[in-house]
This record gives sequence, C-alpha cells and structure tokens, in this order.
Amino acid sequence: MLSADTIVAPATPPGEGGVGIIRLSGPKALSSLDTVYRGKARVVEMDSRRLYHGVLVNSQGQSVDEILAVVMRAPHSYTGEDVVEVHCHGGTQIMRMVLDLFLAQGARMAQPGEFTQRAFINGKLDLAQAEAVVEVIKSRSDKASRVALDQLEGRLSQKVHRFAERFRDALALLEAHIDFPDDEVGELDLHALLQSVDAVTLEMRQLAESFDLGRALREGISILILGRPNVGKSSLMNAILGESRAIVTDVAGTTRDTLEEQLVLAGFPVRLIDAAGVRDTDDPVELEGVRRARDKALAADLVLLVVDGSLPLSEEDMLALELCDPHNTLLVVNKSDQAQVCDLSAFGSFMQQVNVSAKYELGLDLLRDAVVAQLNKDSALADTEGLVINERRHRDALNRGLEAVARLQGSAGAGAPLECLAMELREVLSALGEITGETTPDEILEQIFSRFCIGK
Ligand code: GDP
Repeated sequence: MLSADTIVAPATPPGEGGVGIIRLSGPKALSSLDTVYRGKARVVEMDSRRLYHGVLVNSQGQSVDEILAVVMRAPHSYTGEDVVEVHCHGGTQIMRMVLDLFLAQGARMAQPGEFTQRAFINGKLDLAQAEAVVEVIKSRSDKASRVALDQLEGRLSQKVHRFAERFRDALALLEAHIDFPDDEVGELDLHALLQSVDAVTLEMRQLAESFDLGRALREGISILILGRPNVGKSSLMNAILGESRAIVTDVAGTTRDTLEEQLVLAGFPVRLIDAAGVRDTDDPVELEGVRRARDKALAADLVLLVVDGSLPLSEEDMLALELCDPHNTLLVVNKSDQAQVCDLSAFGSFMQQVNVSAKYELGLDLLRDAVVAQLNKDSALADTEGLVINERRHRDALNRGLEAVARLQGSAGAGAPLECLAMELREVLSALGEITGETTPDEILEQIFSRFCIGK
C-alpha cells in the first residue's frame, strides 16, 4: 500500500555541520528533484544509490545550493517508496531553503517517525525492527547498541516467529480434532501437545526475563554509592568519574541529596549515583535524604557500600549495611592509604570486598574489575542466545502469552473441551503477533512511531 503523498524532512539534526541531508519519500520524490536539480544527468537517467553532483535552483532559476543527490527507487529503499536524499551544506538557512524548494513542489513535512512508519506499512521492517531503529539511534554504549542492532536485524522477530510456529502447529492439531472425528485424524495425544508447548514456554520466559538487562542497558545500569557521611563517597564518585563534580568537604552530611552521573564501563552504560549519607538523624532535610537513599538502594542494580577503613565501624555503617542486599553489593573499604583499624567481621564473608583510596586513586582498577565482573555476571544470567529484549511492550506481550499458556495447561488438566484450549492458543498467537506488529492495535502503532524524531 503506497502512500499518495510525498513527505520531506531533514534527516540530520538541526545546527551547523559540514553536510545536511534532506530526505523525501513518496510518488513525487523523483519528479520534485527533477524540477529543481541541474546536473550532468537527468533524474530519470540516475542509477539508484549513486551520488550525483549538481545544483538546486529555485523557480527563478537562481542557484540555491551545490549538492549531491541520490535516488533510491521503489521498492528498494528504506520506506519501500521512491526515496531521494539531497546532501546540501549543513547550515540552518540553507537547509530551510532546500526544504522550501521541495515543499513548493507539493511535498509535505513528515511527521515524527513517518519514514519508518511507511517502511513498516510497506513490509520493509516489522514492528520490533522499527522500534529498534529508535534504540540504535539512542543507545549510549556498545552493549546497548548491540542489543538494538540484533533487534533491527530481525533476530528478535525470527525468535518470536519460531515461538508462534510451534503454537500454530499445536492449534492446527487441535482444530483438526475439533473439526473431524478421531477415526479420521487419529487419537489426539494431548500430553505430547502440552510437552511441545512447554518447551517453547521456557524459552519465552527466559526472553521475558531478559528485559531486566535490556532495560538496564537502555536506561543505564544504576550503581549506587552508599555509606555513612564522610567515608569518602563523593571522593570515590569523583575518582571513578575522573573529574570533580560532587562536592567534597570535611563536614559530615554535606551530600544531602543524590547526585547522578553517566559513564560507560566496559561497554555498559552506567548511571553512577551518590546517595545521601546514611545516618541516624532528626534533621528533616537529612531524614528525607536517608529515606531516598533507602529507596535508591532497593532500586539500584548494584550498590557500592563504602566504609572508612581507618576508623572502627559505627552504628551508622551498620545502618547502611542493613539497606543492602549482599547479592548486588560490593563492599568498598576506603582510605587504604591510612592505617586500617576497621573490623569487617560484621560484614561476614558474604560480601565481596575491595580496598581503595579514593583520595589517592589507589585500587580503582580492582574496583572497576569487580564492578564489571558483577555486571557481566548479571548479563550472563539473562542470556538467551545473546538475545535481549529492551521494550516493556515486548515483555508484557510475552507475559500475556505465558499467562494464556498457563490457562491452557490448567484447562487441559481439568479436562476442558478442546475449543477452550484452542482459544488460549489463539490468545498466545495474538500476544506474540503484537511484538512483530501483526496484531498490534492502531493506537499503539501511533504511540510507537510518535516516539521517533522527525526525519526518521
Ligand atoms: P562523603 O561524605 O562520604 O561523600 O565523603 P567525602 O568524599 O566528602 O570525603 C570525606 C573526607 O574524607 C574528605 O576530607 C576527603 O578528602 C577524605 N577522604 C576521602 N577519601 C579518602 C582516602 O582515600 N584517604 C584519605 N586519607 N582521606 C579520604
């Protein structure tokens, strides 16, 4: 279904740059270029995907810019329609004048995501792949972009299609037994059918669970620096970041609110958070800070619990310890440049320990290694042939499918009629189809494409 109108938009961000690209898609893309382009070749003679040098001229025949133009004829283009890209000089005014030339030819400004929406409508991409386009653009680390690229290349879609195929086979079998008597199609082996469904369910569950990692890669893995005041949390944050952003003072309780910075650690996008100092206090401002620290400790992917190795452990250290889950906590013993008097037996052997001096930048490599090992451990847990989902929508659809499978199993166990089982299988197929866009309601499609930037 090709669109009747031609859309145009800048494909490069606003501002000054060496080159700016204006992109058109639709039935008038080639003729619009032909009207305004002057060069050695006419547009009809241009090969697809080859750059042609020339100038663009306005209706008075005056030159607007010197450009390179490329045409991509339908259906071999991003949108599946005729597409033109004009590489002009990357200035705000020039871009606007070039855009105006094409608007005067009858093209209209594209809505956010409209090029990708057309690619989806024309079957060039399925919905999961279209969503991945945004993630590829927005990813902030190589691991996050790997996940998005896998999805763009269709690995998630292939897997979902494989799941659906198994359920479709099961449904076909059930329908045969609903429509025809057993003496024609043989006796139904319900046990075998349920077993084949079970095998897919396990993979579906693993994929749904990979969302935790996918979300963390997309939003950044949160690492919380926690500890009582003055143990060196701000200093540690600065040392890790390699720049002085947090306020460092000798007065206990300065880092009242939380402070957050972003960095990339071994390919993982990380949000490093300096929590308020944890201590028993009646000061309402600080109480609020401590409350937030508690919330953040619960929400963090990893906690760096900092203690001062040069002092005995205090009640406040124990208070901070209580906030931590040993499975996602590293114990950071700071001030290793001073005599160590801290007795860590209270922390037992259940927490991995790293000794550092934030002030003199000692032991930071070991800390980094320990953090990365922890992040890798978490990502290995969620490994599903390396495939990770990062859209809540996909996780929810998988879970909806899993719920229908559970109902199917329950009904089968209770001896429900085959029609009931078939109904649940159709539910599973509908849920899976939402991931790739076959059964996605229009309003959800609109919502998805509206997240895109203009020109994509
Ligand atoms: P926070 O309250 O936990 O954020 O602690 P700060 O980072 O503000 O540090 C408190 C004090 O401890 C400051 O005077 C720092 O200079 C000092 N400090 C931090 N790290 C070290 C360290 O590794 N060695 C020594 N000797 N002092 C440190």
